[in-house]
Amino acid sequence: MDHFIITVKLKPVWRYLRTTLTKGFAYLLLLNVFITQTATYAQGLIVSPRTLDSNAGLSVILLGTGIPIPQPDRASACTGVIAGEKVFLVDTGRNCVSPLRQAGITDLEGIFYTHYHSDHFIGLGEILLNFAVAGLDKSMPVIGPVGAQQVVDGIIATYSLDLKYRVAHHGKKFSEAMMKPAVTELSPGVVYEEDGLRVTMFNVCHQPIDPAVGYRFEYQGKSVVISGDTNICPEFAEGARDADLLVSEVSNVALWNQALALARATDNQRQVEMIQEGMEYHAESLSLAQMAEEIGVKKLALTHFFPSIPPTDQAEAMFTRGMSDHFEGPIIVGRDGMEVAP
Ligand SMILES: [Zn+2]
Ligand SMILES: [Zn+2]
Repeated sequence: MDHFIITVKLKPVWRYLRTTLTKGFAYLLLLNVFITQTATYAQGLIVSPRTLDSNAGLSVILLGTGIPIPQPDRASACTGVIAGEKVFLVDTGRNCVSPLRQAGITDLEGIFYTHYHSDHFIGLGEILLNFAVAGLDKSMPVIGPVGAQQVVDGIIATYSLDLKYRVAHHGKKFSEAMMKPAVTELSPGVVYEEDGLRVTMFNVCHQPIDPAVGYRFEYQGKSVVISGDTNICPEFAEGARDADLLVSEVSNVALWNQALALARATDNQRQVEMIQEGMEYHAESLSLAQMAEEIGVKKLALTHFFPSIPPTDQAEAMFTRGMSDHFEGPIIVGRDGMEVAP
């Protein structure tokens, strides 16, 4: 009987203890997960700057490999060029700021523009704003053919209220200078020459878009050429001749022909003409491979996929089909964040 009483009284106590201990343990577990997660998220707030090495030579980071048609895994036109400790951008397309941050690039020597289709410049404001928030106290040098001032002025004008708010709120911690880029409009020829790096601007063929240029970077005996948007033409070939690495835009005619057939089947004349006009001023993949071989390019990296494709092996194999039959060197199919050395 006594034994029975004790058992009856102990049961609720044990149940209470068990529930409390289980809850406590679960609470501690949740707290631990929370602390670990917040630490991870907090770490993400601080960018770890990329270590740059003055002896590292010339290399490229493909930061935006897409076009105006949105593709979630590809920012639009944006290429980083690293020469020793200096980092430059060629074009600043949509959402280029994300891969730029991912790459740990916390400062730029300057920005070069190839032309003023919006997919090549629309990300400028985001990039400058993030540098300004980070307190990078300088004006960003911007170089481009005629039109650069108009484009930059237009973008900066949209930030006038934002700039006023942030300066009033953060004072000198926010870099006002960063939101006032130093623009220089230049014609084809040598546009930058410093510390052994020479950058040459050359005309390309993106008619009816004028001006449209590409850039050749030469540093420590290596050369990298960025095509900008262009069809295959003698000017493009001359600018890219003998490049150790040609980073080129590329268009796939087979894909566009299928799209054309669909547009014709649905009697969509507007779409037919839009596709044809698009195909007129981009570099057809097989002709590009052929040209690269003829002019002695050593390595070809593809970007600005027209039409845009997801970054999958299958889609990329379909896009580049046949190119290796014409070009003997390595063909790198670009993805955002990919680094390529000449
Ligand atoms: Zn263009
Ligand atoms: Zn473009």
